[in-house]
Amino acid sequence: KKVLVKVDNLVKHFPIRAGVFKRIVAWVRAVDDISFEIYEGETLGMVGESGCGKTTAGMTLLRLYEPTSGRIIVDNEDTTFYFMPRFKAKQYLKKTYIRKFKTENPETFTGIDKKYYEIYKDSGEKGFYDVLLSNLNEKRSEFRKTMQIVFQDPYSSLNPRIRIKTIVSEGPVMHKVIKKSEIIEKVKSALEEVGIHGDHMYRFPHQFSGGQRQRIGIARALLMNPKLIVADEAVAALDVSIRSQVINLMLDLQKKHNLTYLFISHDLSVIKYISDRIIVMYLGKIVEDASKKDLFDEPLHPYTRALMSAIPVPNPEYKKKRIILKGDVPSPVNPPSGCRFHPRCPVAKEICAKEEPQLREITPGHKVACHFPGSLK
Ligand code: SF4
Repeated sequence: KKVLVKVDNLVKHFPIRAGVFKRIVAWVRAVDDISFEIYEGETLGMVGESGCGKTTAGMTLLRLYEPTSGRIIVDNEDTTFYFMPRFKAKQYLKKTYIRKFKTENPETFTGIDKKYYEIYKDSGEKGFYDVLLSNLNEKRSEFRKTMQIVFQDPYSSLNPRIRIKTIVSEGPVMHKVIKKSEIIEKVKSALEEVGIHGDHMYRFPHQFSGGQRQRIGIARALLMNPKLIVADEAVAALDVSIRSQVINLMLDLQKKHNLTYLFISHDLSVIKYISDRIIVMYLGKIVEDASKKDLFDEPLHPYTRALMSAIPVPNPEYKKKRIILKGDVPSPVNPPSGCRFHPRCPVAKEICAKEEPQLREITPGHKVACHFPGSLK
Protein backbone atom coordinates (compact mmCIF):
# COMPACT_ATOMS: atom_id res chain seq x y z
CA LYS A 1 0.00 0.00 0.00
CA LYS A 2 1.20 3.48 -0.86
CA VAL A 3 1.88 5.88 1.99
CA LEU A 4 0.03 9.13 1.32
CA VAL A 5 0.99 11.00 4.49
CA LYS A 6 3.96 10.34 6.74
CA VAL A 7 4.24 12.25 9.97
CA ASP A 8 7.63 12.16 11.70
CA ASN A 9 8.10 13.30 15.30
CA LEU A 10 5.42 15.97 15.07
CA VAL A 11 5.35 18.42 17.97
CA LYS A 12 2.91 21.26 18.55
CA HIS A 13 3.24 23.32 21.70
CA PHE A 14 1.19 26.45 22.42
CA PRO A 15 2.60 29.22 24.58
CA ILE A 16 0.68 30.54 27.59
CA ARG A 17 1.35 34.24 28.05
CA ALA A 18 0.72 36.36 31.10
CA GLY A 19 1.54 39.73 32.65
CA VAL A 20 1.81 43.20 31.17
CA PHE A 21 4.53 42.19 28.74
CA LYS A 22 2.72 39.01 27.75
CA ARG A 23 5.73 36.88 28.57
CA ILE A 24 5.57 33.17 27.96
CA VAL A 25 5.02 31.52 31.33
CA ALA A 26 4.36 27.94 30.25
CA TRP A 27 3.72 25.71 27.28
CA VAL A 28 0.72 23.54 26.49
CA ARG A 29 2.20 20.37 25.08
CA ALA A 30 -0.80 19.55 22.92
CA VAL A 31 0.99 17.19 20.53
CA ASP A 32 4.25 15.82 21.77
CA ASP A 33 6.35 13.87 19.33
CA ILE A 34 4.00 11.67 17.38
CA SER A 35 4.78 9.65 14.25
CA PHE A 36 2.32 7.82 12.06
CA GLU A 37 1.42 7.04 8.49
CA ILE A 38 -1.77 7.27 6.47
CA TYR A 39 -2.06 4.90 3.52
CA GLU A 40 -3.80 5.84 0.31
CA GLY A 41 -7.49 4.91 0.21
CA GLU A 42 -7.81 4.00 3.88
CA THR A 43 -9.62 5.54 6.81
CA LEU A 44 -7.37 6.16 9.74
CA GLY A 45 -9.35 6.71 12.91
CA MET A 46 -7.85 8.87 15.64
CA VAL A 47 -9.46 8.45 19.03
CA GLY A 48 -9.00 9.77 22.54
CA GLU A 49 -10.67 11.85 25.23
CA SER A 50 -11.01 15.58 24.71
CA GLY A 51 -7.72 17.33 25.37
CA CYS A 52 -5.62 14.41 24.13
CA GLY A 53 -4.32 16.39 21.15
CA LYS A 54 -6.15 14.68 18.33
CA THR A 55 -7.71 17.86 16.88
CA THR A 56 -4.40 19.73 17.21
CA ALA A 57 -2.70 16.86 15.36
CA GLY A 58 -5.26 17.10 12.53
CA MET A 59 -5.05 20.88 12.33
CA THR A 60 -1.25 20.80 12.30
CA LEU A 61 -1.29 18.19 9.58
CA LEU A 62 -3.42 20.54 7.48
CA ARG A 63 -1.14 23.44 8.42
CA LEU A 64 -3.93 25.39 10.06
CA TYR A 65 -1.36 25.43 12.87
CA GLU A 66 2.34 25.57 12.10
CA PRO A 67 4.18 22.61 13.66
CA THR A 68 6.64 23.42 16.47
CA SER A 69 8.91 20.73 15.04
CA GLY A 70 8.72 17.50 13.09
CA ARG A 71 8.18 16.60 9.49
CA ILE A 72 5.03 16.15 7.40
CA ILE A 73 5.57 14.29 4.15
CA VAL A 74 2.69 14.20 1.70
CA ASP A 75 2.82 12.17 -1.49
CA ASN A 76 6.58 11.78 -1.16
CA GLU A 77 7.27 15.53 -0.83
CA ASP A 78 8.31 17.24 2.37
CA THR A 79 5.59 19.84 2.93
CA THR A 80 6.75 20.99 6.37
CA PHE A 81 8.35 24.22 5.14
CA TYR A 82 5.67 25.18 2.60
CA PHE A 83 4.03 27.75 4.84
CA MET A 84 7.15 29.11 6.52
CA PRO A 85 8.75 32.45 5.56
CA ARG A 86 11.58 31.84 3.10
CA PHE A 87 14.46 32.34 5.55
CA LYS A 88 12.87 29.91 8.02
CA ALA A 89 12.21 27.39 5.27
CA LYS A 90 15.89 27.54 4.35
CA GLN A 91 16.91 27.06 7.98
CA TYR A 92 14.60 24.08 8.18
CA LEU A 93 16.07 22.49 5.04
CA LYS A 94 19.57 23.06 6.32
CA LYS A 95 18.84 21.53 9.70
CA THR A 96 16.81 18.61 8.40
CA TYR A 97 18.65 17.62 5.24
CA ILE A 98 21.96 19.38 4.57
CA ARG A 99 23.42 18.47 7.97
CA LYS A 100 22.41 14.88 7.44
CA PHE A 101 23.79 14.77 3.89
CA LYS A 102 27.14 16.14 5.06
CA THR A 103 27.59 13.86 8.05
CA GLU A 104 25.83 10.56 7.38
CA ASN A 105 26.49 7.73 4.97
CA PRO A 106 24.31 8.27 1.86
CA GLU A 107 23.85 4.52 1.47
CA THR A 108 21.72 4.45 4.59
CA PHE A 109 19.24 6.99 3.19
CA THR A 110 15.79 5.81 2.29
CA GLY A 111 12.53 7.36 1.12
CA ILE A 112 12.46 11.10 0.97
CA ASP A 113 16.03 11.47 2.31
CA LYS A 114 17.29 9.44 -0.64
CA LYS A 115 15.17 11.41 -3.10
CA TYR A 116 16.38 14.76 -1.75
CA TYR A 117 19.98 13.54 -1.53
CA GLU A 118 19.94 12.98 -5.30
CA ILE A 119 18.94 16.62 -5.79
CA TYR A 120 21.71 17.74 -3.40
CA LYS A 121 24.26 15.57 -5.17
CA ASP A 122 23.35 16.94 -8.59
CA SER A 123 22.89 20.59 -7.71
CA GLY A 124 24.94 21.30 -4.56
CA GLU A 125 23.70 23.07 -1.43
CA LYS A 126 22.61 26.29 -3.13
CA GLY A 127 20.94 24.40 -5.95
CA PHE A 128 19.16 22.22 -3.38
CA TYR A 129 17.58 25.28 -1.76
CA ASP A 130 16.72 26.71 -5.16
CA VAL A 131 14.96 23.53 -6.29
CA LEU A 132 13.01 22.98 -3.07
CA LEU A 133 12.10 26.60 -2.49
CA SER A 134 11.01 27.30 -6.06
CA ASN A 135 7.32 27.72 -6.90
CA LEU A 136 6.30 27.79 -3.25
CA ASN A 137 3.00 29.48 -4.09
CA GLU A 138 2.06 26.69 -6.44
CA LYS A 139 3.16 24.08 -3.93
CA ARG A 140 1.00 25.68 -1.22
CA SER A 141 -1.97 25.79 -3.52
CA GLU A 142 -1.45 22.14 -4.47
CA PHE A 143 -1.22 21.25 -0.77
CA ARG A 144 -4.48 23.05 -0.01
CA LYS A 145 -6.20 21.14 -2.80
CA THR A 146 -4.83 17.80 -1.68
CA MET A 147 -5.83 18.15 1.98
CA GLN A 148 -9.34 19.21 2.95
CA ILE A 149 -11.24 19.36 6.21
CA VAL A 150 -14.80 18.72 7.31
CA PHE A 151 -15.43 20.51 10.58
CA GLN A 152 -17.26 19.36 13.67
CA ASP A 153 -20.00 21.91 13.89
CA PRO A 154 -22.22 22.16 10.82
CA TYR A 155 -23.91 25.18 12.43
CA SER A 156 -20.87 27.40 12.60
CA SER A 157 -18.66 26.11 9.80
CA LEU A 158 -20.85 27.66 7.07
CA ASN A 159 -21.08 31.45 6.87
CA PRO A 160 -24.80 32.29 7.48
CA ARG A 161 -24.75 35.33 5.19
CA ILE A 162 -23.47 33.58 2.10
CA ARG A 163 -25.40 31.39 -0.30
CA ILE A 164 -24.47 27.74 -0.61
CA LYS A 165 -23.32 28.21 -4.19
CA THR A 166 -20.61 30.65 -3.08
CA ILE A 167 -19.69 28.67 0.04
CA VAL A 168 -19.09 25.52 -1.96
CA SER A 169 -17.33 27.13 -4.94
CA GLU A 170 -15.15 29.77 -3.21
CA GLY A 171 -12.14 27.51 -2.52
CA PRO A 172 -12.14 25.63 -5.83
CA VAL A 173 -12.35 28.89 -7.83
CA MET A 174 -9.56 30.48 -5.79
CA HIS A 175 -7.31 27.45 -6.31
CA LYS A 176 -8.31 27.24 -9.98
CA VAL A 177 -9.80 23.77 -9.63
CA ILE A 178 -12.90 24.99 -11.41
CA LYS A 179 -13.47 27.94 -13.75
CA LYS A 180 -15.96 30.69 -12.92
CA SER A 181 -18.04 29.67 -15.93
CA GLU A 182 -18.38 26.14 -14.53
CA ILE A 183 -19.55 27.11 -11.03
CA ILE A 184 -23.25 26.35 -11.44
CA GLU A 185 -22.73 23.03 -13.17
CA LYS A 186 -20.02 21.82 -10.74
CA VAL A 187 -21.74 22.97 -7.56
CA LYS A 188 -24.93 21.31 -8.70
CA SER A 189 -23.25 17.99 -9.32
CA ALA A 190 -21.29 18.18 -6.03
CA LEU A 191 -24.48 18.86 -4.07
CA GLU A 192 -26.33 16.08 -5.83
CA GLU A 193 -23.50 13.71 -5.05
CA VAL A 194 -24.03 14.33 -1.33
CA GLY A 195 -27.82 13.98 -1.63
CA ILE A 196 -28.89 17.62 -1.81
CA HIS A 197 -31.02 18.96 -4.65
CA GLY A 198 -28.87 21.04 -7.00
CA ASP A 199 -31.38 23.92 -7.09
CA HIS A 200 -30.86 24.43 -3.37
CA MET A 201 -27.52 26.09 -4.08
CA TYR A 202 -29.24 29.49 -3.96
CA ARG A 203 -30.36 28.97 -0.38
CA PHE A 204 -28.65 30.12 2.81
CA PRO A 205 -27.22 27.73 5.45
CA HIS A 206 -30.05 28.33 7.95
CA GLN A 207 -32.51 26.80 5.50
CA PHE A 208 -30.90 23.40 5.99
CA SER A 209 -30.89 20.89 8.85
CA GLY A 210 -27.68 19.88 10.69
CA GLY A 211 -27.25 16.72 8.62
CA GLN A 212 -27.76 18.63 5.37
CA ARG A 213 -25.25 21.27 6.42
CA GLN A 214 -22.70 18.59 7.11
CA ARG A 215 -23.38 17.21 3.63
CA ILE A 216 -22.76 20.69 2.25
CA GLY A 217 -19.46 20.76 4.17
CA ILE A 218 -18.55 17.47 2.53
CA ALA A 219 -19.54 18.80 -0.94
CA ARG A 220 -17.33 21.82 -0.32
CA ALA A 221 -14.36 19.59 0.49
CA LEU A 222 -15.12 17.25 -2.40
CA LEU A 223 -15.17 19.93 -5.06
CA MET A 224 -11.47 20.58 -4.43
CA ASN A 225 -10.69 17.06 -5.66
CA PRO A 226 -8.75 16.26 -2.49
CA LYS A 227 -6.73 13.14 -1.77
CA LEU A 228 -7.08 13.38 2.00
CA ILE A 229 -10.05 14.60 4.01
CA VAL A 230 -9.60 15.26 7.71
CA ALA A 231 -12.98 14.82 9.37
CA ASP A 232 -12.77 16.37 12.81
CA GLU A 233 -15.63 15.08 14.95
CA ALA A 234 -17.62 15.39 11.72
CA VAL A 235 -20.69 13.58 13.04
CA ALA A 236 -20.49 14.41 16.74
CA ALA A 237 -23.04 17.24 16.58
CA LEU A 238 -25.60 15.17 14.64
CA ASP A 239 -28.49 12.98 15.83
CA VAL A 240 -27.69 9.30 15.96
CA SER A 241 -29.98 8.44 13.01
CA ILE A 242 -28.46 11.18 10.83
CA ARG A 243 -24.97 10.22 11.98
CA SER A 244 -25.04 6.84 10.27
CA GLN A 245 -26.39 8.40 7.05
CA VAL A 246 -23.49 10.86 6.93
CA ILE A 247 -20.94 8.14 7.73
CA ASN A 248 -22.36 5.89 5.01
CA LEU A 249 -22.25 8.79 2.57
CA MET A 250 -18.60 9.33 3.42
CA LEU A 251 -17.84 5.66 2.89
CA ASP A 252 -19.60 5.68 -0.51
CA LEU A 253 -17.70 8.78 -1.59
CA GLN A 254 -14.46 7.18 -0.44
CA LYS A 255 -14.98 4.22 -2.75
CA LYS A 256 -16.05 6.37 -5.67
CA HIS A 257 -13.22 8.92 -5.48
CA ASN A 258 -10.51 6.81 -3.84
CA LEU A 259 -10.42 9.23 -0.91
CA THR A 260 -8.28 8.85 2.16
CA TYR A 261 -9.73 9.91 5.50
CA LEU A 262 -8.28 10.89 8.80
CA PHE A 263 -11.33 10.52 10.99
CA ILE A 264 -10.96 12.17 14.37
CA SER A 265 -13.47 11.32 17.09
CA HIS A 266 -13.81 10.77 20.80
CA ASP A 267 -16.41 8.09 20.09
CA LEU A 268 -14.87 4.65 19.76
CA SER A 269 -18.05 3.09 18.34
CA VAL A 270 -18.08 5.60 15.44
CA ILE A 271 -14.36 5.01 14.91
CA LYS A 272 -14.94 1.26 14.91
CA TYR A 273 -17.57 1.56 12.23
CA ILE A 274 -15.64 3.73 9.79
CA SER A 275 -11.92 3.00 10.26
CA ASP A 276 -9.50 0.54 8.70
CA ARG A 277 -6.73 1.43 11.13
CA ILE A 278 -6.90 3.21 14.46
CA ILE A 279 -4.58 5.43 16.46
CA VAL A 280 -5.31 5.92 20.15
CA MET A 281 -4.02 9.16 21.69
CA TYR A 282 -3.52 10.12 25.30
CA LEU A 283 -2.20 13.48 26.50
CA GLY A 284 -0.41 14.43 23.29
CA LYS A 285 1.09 10.98 22.64
CA ILE A 286 0.15 8.00 20.52
CA VAL A 287 -0.34 5.06 22.87
CA GLU A 288 -1.53 2.46 20.37
CA ASP A 289 -1.58 2.16 16.58
CA ALA A 290 -3.13 -0.92 14.99
CA SER A 291 -5.56 -2.28 12.42
CA LYS A 292 -9.17 -2.21 13.54
CA LYS A 293 -9.25 -5.96 13.92
CA ASP A 294 -6.10 -6.15 16.02
CA LEU A 295 -7.15 -3.26 18.20
CA PHE A 296 -10.59 -4.63 18.96
CA ASP A 297 -9.55 -8.28 19.18
CA GLU A 298 -6.60 -7.61 21.38
CA PRO A 299 -6.13 -4.12 22.76
CA LEU A 300 -2.69 -4.00 24.32
CA HIS A 301 -2.57 -0.61 26.03
CA PRO A 302 -4.42 -0.29 29.35
CA TYR A 303 -5.92 3.02 28.21
CA THR A 304 -7.33 1.44 25.04
CA ARG A 305 -8.76 -1.39 27.18
CA ALA A 306 -10.45 1.14 29.44
CA LEU A 307 -11.90 3.06 26.48
CA MET A 308 -13.27 -0.15 25.02
CA SER A 309 -14.84 -1.25 28.23
CA ALA A 310 -16.90 1.95 28.13
CA ILE A 311 -18.59 1.13 24.80
CA PRO A 312 -22.24 0.29 25.52
CA VAL A 313 -23.24 -3.28 24.71
CA PRO A 314 -26.65 -3.81 23.09
CA ASN A 315 -27.38 -7.00 25.02
CA PRO A 316 -28.00 -6.28 28.75
CA GLU A 317 -27.53 -9.99 29.59
CA TYR A 318 -23.92 -9.70 28.59
CA LYS A 319 -22.11 -8.21 31.52
CA LYS A 320 -18.67 -7.12 30.51
CA LYS A 321 -16.11 -5.91 32.95
CA ARG A 322 -16.09 -2.13 33.05
CA ILE A 323 -12.72 -0.55 33.78
CA ILE A 324 -13.12 2.72 35.63
CA LEU A 325 -10.11 4.99 35.44
CA LYS A 326 -9.07 7.01 38.45
CA GLY A 327 -9.12 10.82 38.22
CA ASP A 328 -9.17 13.10 35.21
CA VAL A 329 -6.80 13.54 32.31
CA PRO A 330 -3.86 15.54 33.74
CA SER A 331 -2.98 18.96 32.33
CA PRO A 332 -0.92 18.98 29.14
CA VAL A 333 1.05 21.89 30.63
CA ASN A 334 2.72 19.64 33.16
CA PRO A 335 2.28 16.07 31.96
CA PRO A 336 3.23 13.27 34.39
CA SER A 337 6.76 11.90 34.21
CA GLY A 338 7.54 8.58 32.53
CA CYS A 339 4.40 7.08 31.07
CA ARG A 340 1.83 9.88 30.97
CA PHE A 341 -0.91 7.43 31.82
CA HIS A 342 0.74 6.13 35.00
CA PRO A 343 -1.29 8.11 37.60
CA ARG A 344 -4.49 6.53 36.23
CA CYS A 345 -3.23 3.15 35.08
CA PRO A 346 -4.58 0.16 37.05
CA VAL A 347 -1.48 -1.93 36.30
CA ALA A 348 1.25 0.71 36.70
CA LYS A 349 4.55 -0.36 38.27
CA GLU A 350 7.52 1.57 39.59
CA ILE A 351 9.29 1.87 36.25
CA CYS A 352 6.22 3.52 34.66
CA ALA A 353 6.73 6.78 36.54
CA LYS A 354 10.41 6.90 35.65
CA GLU A 355 10.81 5.75 32.10
CA GLU A 356 8.73 6.84 29.15
CA PRO A 357 7.65 3.82 27.10
CA GLN A 358 8.40 4.15 23.38
CA LEU A 359 5.89 3.20 20.70
CA ARG A 360 7.11 -0.20 19.53
CA GLU A 361 5.79 -2.86 17.21
CA ILE A 362 4.63 -5.92 19.15
CA THR A 363 3.15 -7.87 16.24
CA PRO A 364 3.33 -6.78 12.58
CA GLY A 365 1.42 -3.51 12.25
CA HIS A 366 0.42 -3.39 15.94
CA LYS A 367 2.34 -0.75 17.88
CA VAL A 368 1.95 0.13 21.53
CA ALA A 369 3.65 2.46 23.99
CA CYS A 370 3.56 0.54 27.27
CA HIS A 371 6.11 -1.24 29.45
CA PHE A 372 3.63 -4.05 30.13
CA PRO A 373 1.47 -4.39 27.01
CA GLY A 374 -1.57 -6.59 27.36
CA SER A 375 -1.31 -6.80 31.13
CA LEU A 376 -4.73 -5.30 31.84
CA LYS A 377 -7.26 -8.04 31.19
FE1 SF4 B 1 0.32 1.53 32.58
FE2 SF4 B 1 2.96 1.39 32.86
FE3 SF4 B 1 1.86 0.68 30.55
FE4 SF4 B 1 1.94 3.21 31.27
S1 SF4 B 1 3.69 1.92 30.84
S2 SF4 B 1 0.21 2.15 30.45
S3 SF4 B 1 1.62 3.06 33.46
S4 SF4 B 1 1.60 -0.34 32.54
